[in-house]
Amino acid sequence: MTDTSRQFVLGKRPDGKPDRDTFELEKGDVPEPRHGEVLVRTCYLSVDPYMRGRMRDRDSYADPWDVGDRMGGHVVGEVVESEHDAWSVGEFVFGEGFWSEHSLLDGDDLTPVDPSLQNLSLPAYLGVLGMPGRTAYFGTLDVLEPDPGDTVAISGAAGAVGSTVGQIASLAGARVVGFAGSDEKVDYLEDDLGFDAGINYKTTENYRAALADAAPNGIDAYFDNVGGPISDAVFSQLNVDARVAICGQIALYNDEGVPTGPRKLPQLIAPRARVEGFLVGDYATRFEHANDRLREWVTNGDIEHRESIVEGFENAPDAFLGLFEGDNIGKQVVKVAEPSE
Ligand code: NDP
Repeated sequence: MTDTSRQFVLGKRPDGKPDRDTFELEKGDVPEPRHGEVLVRTCYLSVDPYMRGRMRDRDSYADPWDVGDRMGGHVVGEVVESEHDAWSVGEFVFGEGFWSEHSLLDGDDLTPVDPSLQNLSLPAYLGVLGMPGRTAYFGTLDVLEPDPGDTVAISGAAGAVGSTVGQIASLAGARVVGFAGSDEKVDYLEDDLGFDAGINYKTTENYRAALADAAPNGIDAYFDNVGGPISDAVFSQLNVDARVAICGQIALYNDEGVPTGPRKLPQLIAPRARVEGFLVGDYATRFEHANDRLREWVTNGDIEHRESIVEGFENAPDAFLGLFEGDNIGKQVVKVAEPSE
């Protein structure tokens, strides 16, 4: 095993859009586990939109990073040394690690990769079988509660969370309409994931008209990953008793000013709509249940998933920056190392 390891730290706080200078690559010794710890060699690293919030010097649900801090993120990898009774060398695990080729992790906080699914897709543990999948699960079934025959709209529909939301809502019997940023993504929604309609918000001039065509009976539930003008269009077409799940607002994450909206609140009055923000972490006591359901759906073929894989640890910043350009279809991950046989 190599005795050096690379990691990314926060190089500087971004002003507006992050860029390559936001990240600093460092090299150091591979750490040694102490009692209770496990050394994990990262195979795949997750980059996620919420990390933009951690780059800001502002308290939020995820603690801000200081400049110079190693950046955190979910990893799936292989145990290379273990000082914890539950884990042996060669096992595959996933959990909260770091933007690092090796992570020293508390053995109590790791989850095993199901050996029968290992060949299916290790990166799926960072997407549909991981935090984004659980976000989609609880946001759809607990917050939106779609009934058969409802129409569900989704922004950021071709991403990790949105693509799973649409399929769970379809399984619940809803009509599903998704907004995404390219024709390729719209084809993916309609042809591969079974969405009833997709709208390319980058080439469509009138979102409201496009949505009215795609959802002639109005919107009963809206899963919002994005915010901004897409939400304005959806709010204008909410039905009575509509539910809105505010999962993310990526269109606003690089704005440094405090947004002056929401501008569309009057549109919630007549439909008596309920708008609810939620955090996946609040459902931690039911994670196991969600994991089981998601694994079942994936293995049965009821839920499709895709990962966009950027090769090479050194390219992790580009993978992260690409989230704001819409480079990914499905979950954006970084392949750091080949899993050993
Ligand atoms: P995605 O895989 O959806 O990646 C981000 C996508 O957002 C891009 O591919 C891009 O797709 C779209 N996007 C980027 N900028 C804009 C913009 N200005 N306007 C419209 N779309 C944009 O990410 P995730 O699935 O991981 O996360 C989705 C959302 O859910 C994020 O907002 C995230 O912060 C939030 N989240 C919230 C959680 C919670 O507990 N509340 C937990 C996990 C995620 P396109 O090509 O379509 O533009």
